[in-house]
Amino acid sequence: MAWDFSTDPEYAELLAWADTFVREECEPLDLVVRESHDLTDPVRQALIPPLQAVVKEKGLWATHLGPELGGAGFGQVKLALLNEILGRSVCAPIVFGSQAPDSGNSEILARFGTPKLKERYLEPLLDNRIVSAFSMTEPQGGADPKIFTTSAAPAGDDWVINGEKWFTSYARMASFLIVMAVTDPDAPPYQRQTMFIVPAETPGVNVLRSVGMGYEPVGEGIEGYVSYENVRVPAENMLGPRGGAFLVAQSRLGGGRIHHAMRTVGLVGRIFDMLCERAVSRYTQGEVLANKQLVQEMVADSWMEIEAFRLLTLRTAWKIDQLHDYKAVRADISAVKAMMQKVLHDVSARALQLHGSLGTTHEMPFVHYLVESFVLGLADGPTEVHKVTLARQILKDYQPAEGLFPSSHLVKLRAAAEAKYADRLAGIPRPTVR
Ligand SMILES: Cc1cc2nc3c(=O)[nH]c(=O)nc-3n(C[C@H](O)[C@H](O)[C@H](O)COP(=O)(O)OP(=O)(O)OC[C@H]3O[C@@H](n4cnc5c(N)ncnc54)[C@H](O)[C@@H]3O)c2cc1C
Repeated sequence: MAWDFSTDPEYAELLAWADTFVREECEPLDLVVRESHDLTDPVRQALIPPLQAVVKEKGLWATHLGPELGGAGFGQVKLALLNEILGRSVCAPIVFGSQAPDSGNSEILARFGTPKLKERYLEPLLDNRIVSAFSMTEPQGGADPKIFTTSAAPAGDDWVINGEKWFTSYARMASFLIVMAVTDPDAPPYQRQTMFIVPAETPGVNVLRSVGMGYEPVGEGIEGYVSYENVRVPAENMLGPRGGAFLVAQSRLGGGRIHHAMRTVGLVGRIFDMLCERAVSRYTQGEVLANKQLVQEMVADSWMEIEAFRLLTLRTAWKIDQLHDYKAVRADISAVKAMMQKVLHDVSARALQLHGSLGTTHEMPFVHYLVESFVLGLADGPTEVHKVTLARQILKDYQPAEGLFPSSHLVKLRAAAEAKYADRLAGIPRPTVR
């Protein structure tokens, strides 16, 4: 029976290198580079590509990919341990070639793209010579994709796309967008939509505006509100089968969710360090905060929550490696997805609180992290939906109790136990239990 929490020494050495590299080279980038995906920003271009070359040299480039696509094919547990380190920095994922949404989009292209599409888009994407976008959510609602209305109609050898999409991250910077559109409105709900790859320069692709997060200055932000107006694409730009958009989306979402969780483990670890440093640094009423029992509770609760989240994430990664089937670990992924919002929220809130007024300002990152916790509870599906998925999967294995009382009703169990031992207990005096 294998039950092991150790890391093999060779990989541990690589992780130690990555940890130092992220702390010394990537974390400072976060304070200087405005948007790590913006390939037109000369500051970004001066700082990020040289670091990407170092990562490639080290063999840690795009490790989420199999060897056939130029990745190391590490598997999810090794990936989790690396992603924990990358989660400390906003820029680290792009420095290591595993940034969202390009990582998921490259998996879609690799699985469903024609050789021509792969040559045109996949190769430069894997090399971060271009970036991409995933255009699924619509302004009227994202949690229920069955209500999407963006349509694609056949026109000769082409398809013509019309509709609006909301929160298409990096839409303005992307060279192509993967767009989900209704092609078969009369088919069963999960077979109505199809994925298309749409080159960004196609006439009719209009980024109406880029929406920013609440903590960003008005006018900044990368969440594209996109309209597709008679956008014509050739039939070969269809990704996966006609009516197969849900299948294609699932192929990226399972991996995407667990990878987010792995990075969040690293991020909450960093916030926990800030919380603890503050606890041992700040004096009030003649003693450090760390001496106050309510502060000790914050430290203890945060540690327990982070460790529980980390272990569940790693076990889920391990299960994926064992089963090679995201469907089989759906419940675990949903649990990790739901937990990630709460852990990031609670640890950030405590860290903010312990930093007092300073914690609420833009001189510390906690407001950003708090909003980020809500982002994690929305992107790739709201927390509520994941909790429902988890509960349904769990309850599938339970049967209703027979009769009026639960199967664990003590009266019933005691009677059964008495019957089981009746022969051996016969004649032994015992008090009567009713
Ligand atoms: C930072 C960020 C980046 C994103 N990037 C992308 C992207 O690149 N591409 C893309 O296509 N989308 C993207 N999204 C959109 C994301 O997928 C949606 O926000 C998400 O699917 C929820 O959709 P919605 O925002 O329209 O919320 P709604 O669908 O309006 O849901 C609102 C709320 O209703 C509640 N709710 C919904 N369903 C249920 C339910 N079944 N049970 C109980 N309560 C429920 C939840 O509280 C939910 O948060 C991004 C979102 C964020 C925040």
